[in-house]
Amino acid sequence: MRVKYAAERAKRVRDEGAAQYLELDGDLAGLYEVDPYTPVTERDPIDEDIEVVVLGGGFAGLLSGAYLKKAGIGDVRVIDMAGDFGGVWYWNRFPGIQCDNDAYCYIPMLEELDFLPSKKFADGAEIFGHCQAMGKHFGLYDGAIFSTQVETMRWDDSIKRWRLTTNRGDDIRARFVVMAQGSYNKPKLPGIPGIKEYLDAGGHAFHSARWDYDYTGGDASGGLHKLADKRVALIGTGATGVQLVPHLGRDAKQLFVFQRTPSSVDMRENTPTDPEWAAALQPGWQEERKRNFHNWSPFVGVVFGEPDLVCDFWTELGRNMTARIAASPDPASLGVEEIMAIREEEDYRIMERLRRRVESIVEDPQTAEALKPYYRFMCKRPCSSETYLPAFNLPNVTLVDVAESKGVERLTKKGIIANGVEYEVDCVVFASGFEISTEISRRYAIDVIEGRDGLSLFDSWHDSYQTLHGMTSRGFPNQFHLGFIQGGVSANTTAMFEQQARHIAYIIAEVSKRGATTVEPSQAGQDNWVNTVRELAIDNSAFELSCTPGYYNNEGRGASENNGGFLGHFYSPGFYAFDELIAQWRDKGDLDGLELGH
Ligand code: NDP
Repeated sequence: MRVKYAAERAKRVRDEGAAQYLELDGDLAGLYEVDPYTPVTERDPIDEDIEVVVLGGGFAGLLSGAYLKKAGIGDVRVIDMAGDFGGVWYWNRFPGIQCDNDAYCYIPMLEELDFLPSKKFADGAEIFGHCQAMGKHFGLYDGAIFSTQVETMRWDDSIKRWRLTTNRGDDIRARFVVMAQGSYNKPKLPGIPGIKEYLDAGGHAFHSARWDYDYTGGDASGGLHKLADKRVALIGTGATGVQLVPHLGRDAKQLFVFQRTPSSVDMRENTPTDPEWAAALQPGWQEERKRNFHNWSPFVGVVFGEPDLVCDFWTELGRNMTARIAASPDPASLGVEEIMAIREEEDYRIMERLRRRVESIVEDPQTAEALKPYYRFMCKRPCSSETYLPAFNLPNVTLVDVAESKGVERLTKKGIIANGVEYEVDCVVFASGFEISTEISRRYAIDVIEGRDGLSLFDSWHDSYQTLHGMTSRGFPNQFHLGFIQGGVSANTTAMFEQQARHIAYIIAEVSKRGATTVEPSQAGQDNWVNTVRELAIDNSAFELSCTPGYYNNEGRGASENNGGFLGHFYSPGFYAFDELIAQWRDKGDLDGLELGH
């Protein structure tokens, strides 16, 4: 099976790596800069001094705003190019959108806002609603600057502030800036020629993160009635494609699904929230559940003496490994290699089960074979759906396997060429993902980020992140980062954002309390942290380099090359070990490793 996996990987790896993807700028900027949900209204340019600007109004920004407010900082302004809070949940409103992991863990601050999602894998609209509720609860709508794209941000040492310019002609001078743009903020396109030619010839196209309901009809729950006479092409079968296919398949006259790599698709078993379970929840339940999920997730995966509360396809590998280890004659004597061997076997079993699931559902044997995932669990994001695979039995749905040609070849005036065949279509939906492991300057929607003495953040981080705790960087005073950089990594992204938001709010509040105007890591503080992360790093390259390409493994090249890792250079002792480390750092109270300026 290792040989088979390697062959499937080799088919798909492209020499250009992440550079294969097209950026949504220039001729293609219109596919990105459009906001289908909120009309952009005219306003006067803003010319203001602001204490804290939070860039991004998704969960990272909302949590930052929330913790800043809790820390007593009043003048917090969120800026987002979207017309509201929500981040990915604002932009991604495609038919079928739901949370793909346990929403009781994923949606933050459920207890604080006294809210429970109505089902385990909550609908996108419900999560978006919670984002809005967080915005209201923490007073973040006051002064929020929406429908505004920051274009440049430069540290101005003469006023000790960040100067931000935007596409609305603003001149905003911020004492502190919190970079909360998230990892999935910039869509990308397949690296193919002809998109402009197709659009110019009147072909319709949009990215899944800018769904065009005017064209398709319907809404996020489906009912795309305007597609009844349309031939639709879908490029991309990741987590988004898996959610889209059942709707497009049901409603379009013809659907061509262009697949380079199949997702693994397990049972979803989405259940409504049980009122009895909800009524019995005790204070602190969400934090407990999040920790429990993290422990059982593939990030840890061997747990004794604790039930698996989430108990779904994310935690199955952990459950099976734990059971195998527990059943071995002397569990305590097992070394890392033996545990890894058990992991590989259990991983193989899960993936084999999923491959058999495909053939038990999909009637055409050739289509079924193409839909089988031949790679290890977690090489790609695992998906779940009861409606995805059956859609390929519909007479109007055709799977076009483009693995051998490493992707679709090009667009033409009439449609798409794949495997040398032209498929004439009326509409192309790009479910082709986001700028996650591409060159670092592409991942930010902001063109220029310059710290002290014109130092570019993109140059500074080009080869390797340089930070203290993943949140501050020398040469970039008063700038704070959330995301996968050099911190703890959780299977639950919002838990990471919350951890970072809490820490950043503490530092900003302390700087003000101590009468300082600037803060940044000392060279020694930063070097220590970079070295700590490096020294503790676990070499995961064998796994990464065995995986089929995707953003998880920097398109097959492994995380370390060109800073391409999706998870950044994480603190490998673990998410909660990192949590403890920064909590102790805060308790010590001396802002160790940071320099304050007055
Ligand atoms: P992905 O990056 O996961 O998928 C992009 C898809 O486009 C892949 O199938 C890729 O194929 C395909 N592709 C790219 N270029 C080509 C090409 N030239 N020819 C053919 N196919 C091509 O993006 P998604 O939007 O699906 O998901 C991104 C992430 O967003 C997810 O991993 C998940 O973390 C998150 N998400 C979360 C959801 C949730 O419920 N919480 C729902 C949806 C998304 P290949 O795999 O071969 O590269």
